[in-house]
Amino acid sequence: MAYVIGASCVDIMDRSCMEECPVDCIYEGERKLYINPMECIDCGACEVACPEQAITVDRKADPDFREDNRNFFTEILPGRDSALGSPGGATPLGPLGVDTPMVSSR
Ligand code: SF4
Ligand code: SF4
Repeated sequence: MAYVIGASCVDIMDRSCMEECPVDCIYEGERKLYINPMECIDCGACEVACPEQAITVDRKADPDFREDNRNFFTEILPGRDSALGSPGGATPLGPLGVDTPMVSSR
């Protein structure tokens, strides 16, 4: 189980959730943030911090966004030569400047 960021984050990205995450597993794309399902410890701190109510536990999330959040880490994103996988922390990477094809096409 992991938490999932949905459509309401697109083009908002105020980053309130990132500041609350104890394991730094919320990664920044170009127009949206993504929670790494392999690193999330399901604490729920980000859910209450989001002013857009964009974050939900995965069993309640839009299935398309649940899959898309995972894809951000398991698929090779445009312009990159390997999948992100589990880098172990978003802060050292900073903004990645790329989104999944699903988010880019919205
Ligand atoms: S549920 Fe907790 S560990 Fe998971 S992304 Fe949110 S703040 Fe981070
Ligand atoms: S707090 Fe919500 S809207 Fe803001 S960046 Fe995080 S998920 Fe997106």
